[in-house]
Amino acid sequence: MMEALLKHLIDITCQRDHTLLNSSVVSALQALTGAEQVRVHELFRFRHQLFVQPKAWLQNGAVVLAEDSTQIENQGEPISRFPSLISAIRDRQNCVEEMTAAGARILWLPIWLNDKVSTCLEVTNPAPYCDNTLRVLEGILGVYRNYQSILDYSERDSLTGLLNRKTFDEKFSRLLAASAPEGAPHESEDERRHHAKAASQWLAVVDIDHFKRVNDQFGHLYGDEVLILVANLLRSSFRAHDRVFRFGGEEFVVLLRSTTLEEAHRIFERFRISVEQHAFPQVGQVTVSLGFACITQESPVVILGHADQALYYAKENGRNRVCYYDGLVSSGLLHSEMANDTVEFF
Ligand code: GH3
Ligand code: MG
Ligand code: MG
Repeated sequence: MMEALLKHLIDITCQRDHTLLNSSVVSALQALTGAEQVRVHELFRFRHQLFVQPKAWLQNGAVVLAEDSTQIENQGEPISRFPSLISAIRDRQNCVEEMTAAGARILWLPIWLNDKVSTCLEVTNPAPYCDNTLRVLEGILGVYRNYQSILDYSERDSLTGLLNRKTFDEKFSRLLAASAPEGAPHESEDERRHHAKAASQWLAVVDIDHFKRVNDQFGHLYGDEVLILVANLLRSSFRAHDRVFRFGGEEFVVLLRSTTLEEAHRIFERFRISVEQHAFPQVGQVTVSLGFACITQESPVVILGHADQALYYAKENGRNRVCYYDGLVSSGLLHSEMANDTVEFF
């Protein structure tokens, strides 16, 4: 028992990202408590409502990660579906036991970090646990919580709390690897037309307009406040499985998961308007420019370059607008060769 416990602790603490950490914790809990099912859920807020979304669980004795399972459109469920979890959070409990109609026992285990819950474990077992197993469970949860706070610290930007540049590099390569080529080299005209309407992934670069003026006129503290408020608007404008990063200074990157071009355009435009209409304390109005591109099989540098060129076009043509790379190229407003020169030039 002792040896198995140490082995799992080593495995948990050698992980460098949340996804693999969740996977290690699910297998540790399964092995050490003999649970029938162990799930890790993420809790997130979207348009003032709390949602619960499974991130890792057991299937036929193996751990399944939501990030890798493309077969389900995993958008989360409203927390109202989980009354025991609601009561655990309301009463600030570390553990609440629920009996299902089928007679199984579910332990709901919210992970408290600085008085907030963003992760919860769900452990299901037919029989109740003995005290010793419960103590092991509690210990593993303690290690999980501490390790999660260390990971958060290294993955996030300290000013805005958004994911940082380093995390973007990792997540973006992972995303590209997961959407590997399906190999249909000869597409008919019909198939191509279908593609244009089908869901794709999108990458947008967002840059605050004339941000230097904010700093110059109001000082750095107000500049920082604007960055925090824009980050909040970003967070509330996109869905949970989209990802928002602070790329550097006053520049942000958004990864938009499976949606059509029209829908992507609409979502980005809605975000642009929400910034334009926000009353920033003291500073007043702030606007952003946004360039976006389709995430294709090309290299990360090329895709990012496309979004950057669209952003550059938006800046050159009045700012406070959303520009789409392929749209600019096909309407002759942006030439790919010329655009390459500009990239080299800058
Ligand atoms: P444009 O519309 O062309 O994007 O103009 P801009 O003024 O926004 O762009 P520029 O790149 O000239 O200036 C960006 C400024 O952002 C310069 C830098 O001092 C400021 N900045 C970068 N990071 C931070 C930060 O963390 N806090 C504050 N307050 N300012 C920052
Ligand atoms: Mg700027
Ligand atoms: Mg900039």
